[in-house]
Amino acid sequence: MSPPHRLAPIVRRELAEASSYAPAKVERALRLDANEAPEFLSVDARERLARAVGETSWQRYPDVRATELRAAIAGRMGVDPESLVIGAGSDEVIALMLSALDGTKPGARDATVVTTTPTFVMYKMSARVRGLRVVEVPLDATWDLDTASLVRAIEMTSPNVVFVATPNNPTGNLVSRDRLERVIEAAHDSLVVVDEAYVDYAPRAQHDLLSKHDNVAILRTLSKIGFAAARVGWLAAPVELAREIDKVRQPYNLPSASQRVATLALTELVGEIDAMIAAVVEERARVAAALAALPGVTVSPSDANFVWVKVPGAPGEVHTAMAKRGVLVRSFHPAGGRLAQMLRVTLGTRAENDRLLEVLASCIR
Ligand SMILES: *Cc1c(COP(=O)(O)O)cnc(C)c1O
Repeated sequence: MSPPHRLAPIVRRELAEASSYAPAKVERALRLDANEAPEFLSVDARERLARAVGETSWQRYPDVRATELRAAIAGRMGVDPESLVIGAGSDEVIALMLSALDGTKPGARDATVVTTTPTFVMYKMSARVRGLRVVEVPLDATWDLDTASLVRAIEMTSPNVVFVATPNNPTGNLVSRDRLERVIEAAHDSLVVVDEAYVDYAPRAQHDLLSKHDNVAILRTLSKIGFAAARVGWLAAPVELAREIDKVRQPYNLPSASQRVATLALTELVGEIDAMIAAVVEERARVAAALAALPGVTVSPSDANFVWVKVPGAPGEVHTAMAKRGVLVRSFHPAGGRLAQMLRVTLGTRAENDRLLEVLASCIR
């Protein structure tokens, strides 16, 4: 470890325990570790995207309001355009929302953010670097919401925000609808952010929660459905709240090219995206069955574009062996405990999945 820098006192103390995000680097590997979509765009779609980007007025700042993209999102989701906060990925939207929170909310005790574990790590990381306190409530044995513990945590801390990802990352499952609603009702003085990053791969969405409860916001992204490179995500929230959070946003946070690409993705390219999603969902059943047939392997039911797999052997062993053979998946062995033998495996094309199955099988002793 390097000695503390002379100017260390000028930065937040919370940063000492944080680290920069650094995904594993493996040259020419099959990357099934980041839940990206497989390559799928047709030549025609690529040409349309190139044309749209080519028409950019490069000397101009982007449209501050992202008017066209806002209309496209609102149209697809059936929500008021004014209810949207759009960011450079949902990561930015999470950061904006957390920056807008008041750490001294009346009644709040010990936590500003309540979430589950395991879940998407950015809720906690983004909160911690802002000096906000986080309470994590473990998911139950089937990776579903532990309603009693969550309700207790919410009642004890009266948090500003509760994050629930459904389908959840890394476990892949939709949480039970009735449990989610019980949490939303218990959190009546908090905002419940329902993160639907993977919902396009699931049998049902939960957009109707928005009209049913005034303390719900839905978080969405294009990253997991084929457009991670564009960095576009959004929150659909109660209009008054969306207006406040939007004040935190840098005016030109969304590059013009990203706005155009995302607008095309949500309009003309919907057919190609839907076909890709259908193919991944079909592969999910095949891959899950093949994995479950391997000795000592168990697979959780998935509603996302990845599978959550328990492998035999010492923690981290299978993951390392697979990486040596050029197949990168995400291992949770550093977390230890019940995650020590868990792998999160992103689904790829049929050929990529065949390679995954072959390599994984060969790495199990
Ligand atoms: C990947 C992921 C995101 C982040 O998406 P970006 O839009 O790329 O920032 C958000 N939530 C969950 C649950 C994710 O898995």
